[in-house]
Amino acid sequence: MAIFPIRVYPDPVLRSEVETIDVFDEDLKRLADDLFETMYDAPGIGLAAPQIGIAKRLFVADIGEGPFVMVNPEIVETSGEWTFEEGCLSVPDRFWEISRPSFARATGFDLDGNAIEYSGDDLMGRVLQHEIDHLSGGLVIERLSKAERKQAIAELREAVADDRLGRRP
Ligand code: ZN
Repeated sequence: MAIFPIRVYPDPVLRSEVETIDVFDEDLKRLADDLFETMYDAPGIGLAAPQIGIAKRLFVADIGEGPFVMVNPEIVETSGEWTFEEGCLSVPDRFWEISRPSFARATGFDLDGNAIEYSGDDLMGRVLQHEIDHLSGGLVIERLSKAERKQAIAELREAVADDRLGRRP
């Protein structure tokens, strides 16, 4: 197991096409272990493979009810609405009030290739939607209103520029 650096906006891997997984082998299990270790170290409640630079269709999560992995996940049902202060390990230290469906159901596969599904309201629904967004190049900032998004991108660009100049502690 290893802790990987988490890729942050505007790293292009966060926008890249991900590969559907069709081999369920030891390498895949190792990748899931690395994702878990990196997620718990951050700490975070979910982490998708592109966030450690691997453009493959899987994520891991643990909202406090135990760890789970989804390979090739798809959202198949959503309902309701819930506003939650959402953040992302790839857009660090920023949170926005974001409305999304409260309930989500996702289908996919476990690490052995068995069909599985997870569903839930509130935080569970949110983590499913958020992580599966990452697997289609989506980031939380796209869920903002146009004005909020513009401001967020300007702030993030400034933070990146400051990093490059070494002005951040
Ligand atoms: Zn995220």
